[in-house]
Amino acid sequence: MKNIVLLGATGSIGDNVLSVIEQNKDSLNLYGIALNSNISKANQIINEHSPMFVYIEEANEILLEKSISEGSLSVLNGKAELKELLNDSNVDVIISAISGFAGLETTLMAAKTGKVILLANKESIVVAGDIILPLAKEYGSTIIPIDSEHNAIFQCLASEKNTNDVSKIIITASGGPFEGKKLLDLKDVTQKEALNHPNWDMGSKISIDSATLVNKCLELIEARYLFDLNEKYFELVIHPQSIIHSIVTYIDGSSLCHMSNPDMKVPISHALSDSNRLPINFLEIDFSSLELSFKNFPSDRKNLENIAREICNVGGSSGTIFNAANEIAVQDFLLNKIKFNDIYEVIYRTFDAITVSNNLNVEAIYEIDHQARMEAEKMVKSIT
Ligand code: NDP
Ligand code: MG
Repeated sequence: MKNIVLLGATGSIGDNVLSVIEQNKDSLNLYGIALNSNISKANQIINEHSPMFVYIEEANEILLEKSISEGSLSVLNGKAELKELLNDSNVDVIISAISGFAGLETTLMAAKTGKVILLANKESIVVAGDIILPLAKEYGSTIIPIDSEHNAIFQCLASEKNTNDVSKIIITASGGPFEGKKLLDLKDVTQKEALNHPNWDMGSKISIDSATLVNKCLELIEARYLFDLNEKYFELVIHPQSIIHSIVTYIDGSSLCHMSNPDMKVPISHALSDSNRLPINFLEIDFSSLELSFKNFPSDRKNLENIAREICNVGGSSGTIFNAANEIAVQDFLLNKIKFNDIYEVIYRTFDAITVSNNLNVEAIYEIDHQARMEAEKMVKSIT
């Protein structure tokens, strides 16, 4: 039996993980959960899965007492107790699925446990890949990506001994709800349209990132760290059907890809299976009617891709600045403060305004994140 701690249990990745656990009760057990504030959903999870521990970031004690059923459940008090839970010898797997920069702290904690970490929180790698990967190595933790593209690459590389024989890796992108549209056509799009992803049902932040294509840029940086390859190896390609999740091409011209209908339970179940397979309900690909298409990353988003490539090469605080600017821009778009295309302006201007520094420790990352958020808010004010 595998005991799982699910960080971000009440989110979209959380839903998919819980479904995989539900379908594999004989081998998977929900041991602990962490969330921000969605107590009613936490209650539902507790009733259905009976975890032993729950951590709530914005714990409202009165609400908690009334609402979380007691019994064998322990409500963790503070980050120190959450850290203890992650290090509990009964825990086998930690799933890092808190959204955004908020996921950094627990991903860092997880990296020091020596356990298996299923990584969804790409933002922590973008801002602190230089710290998290070496920490995981030092403490003997194993990071398995569950971002679908990275899990696909992980699966395509698994049969090979290393990346020495790789000539190219194609990271596919659906293109999001505005696939095929020019930037100029997007100036008046609504939140509802931007949140309406054609292939994936995800949390609001990553849905907007998919619509702007920032998600693919975060994923390029994520891939550069997870697979320890120069950005030159990676190509971003639009593949609207989201059937091929990424492609690895080797030096002999062979290409391996991972295919499935778009469903996060596929990479999650793979990562929970020790590279065997777990049975899940899935929608089979109908190969008889399958039509796959591929296009270049849109030329009017080249600036964005170039920034991501620069971050891959420069490292230091550049990923933190980019991520913070994007998080503020997405938040302010969702608050109706700026228009869709202003998201790019906030990112470009903030990225230009702050000088990149190197050799960062964790404290410096938090400081730079704060500074970049303030700068991005200034940009928002100057736009509106
Ligand atoms: P959601 O917004 O759906 O869920 C976020 C989860 O994080 C919720 O459980 C939320 O709790 C919790 N949370 C937020 N802030 C905190 C905090 N400070 N402390 C503790 N818990 C917190 O996001 P997604 O599930 O869509 O995405 C999660 C991560 O996975 C992101 O990094 C995303 O990029 C990545 N990812 C997601 C994919 C998807 O299909 N959704 C695909 C690939 C990667 P509460 O509900 O209480 O607010
Ligand atoms: Mg992805």
